[in-house]
Amino acid sequence: MSSKRLDAIVSEVLICIKCLLSETRRNAVPGEGNAKAEIMLIGEAPGRSEDLQGRPFVGSAGNFLEALLGEIGLSRADLFICNILKCRPPNNRPPKPLEVQTCTPYLDRQIKTVKPKLIVSLGSHSTAYIFSKFGLQFTSITEVHGKFFEAVVYGKRVKIFPSYHPAAALYNPQYKKQIIEDFKKLKQETKIK
Ligand code: URA
Repeated sequence: MSSKRLDAIVSEVLICIKCLLSETRRNAVPGEGNAKAEIMLIGEAPGRSEDLQGRPFVGSAGNFLEALLGEIGLSRADLFICNILKCRPPNNRPPKPLEVQTCTPYLDRQIKTVKPKLIVSLGSHSTAYIFSKFGLQFTSITEVHGKFFEAVVYGKRVKIFPSYHPAAALYNPQYKKQIIEDFKKLKQETKIK
């Protein structure tokens, strides 16, 4: 399901040249999913596969994410999935503060349009942004992952659930266990469906 407002954001992102990442990207990755999703997943930034395909979470981290979602009875069609940054940083380096500042008005509009009941922030960059944007105190992903928080998001009470980033699981089995545990906790909450 799409909406005119979300389609307008996609059109703007695809031709965005507000920062230098537009010079190194192959494709911008606006985000996608159900315009009426109750759950919004927010990652960090596109990686190599995402940059090539123009879609979020389609590489190895995406495969793991889909498996996690499947375990809790969700599929991509139920959700809206996007990132803090809409373009891939060279060599997948972390987002720079100015890039976050420049790009997140797109994300803010996506949140305002979809109006999710639950935001799942994946990894520390996504969580730090969402926490600071909506008045929560971010300490570290180690401390906040796997817990539910509540914030007023554009006038509406929204649950916020940080998890480790699925890419972390690909290089550290310890994180993999944690993410699986995090998603089990999420399962309870997805009964809001
Ligand atoms: N990692 C992210 O944070 N987002 C993607 O879309 C892919 C990998």
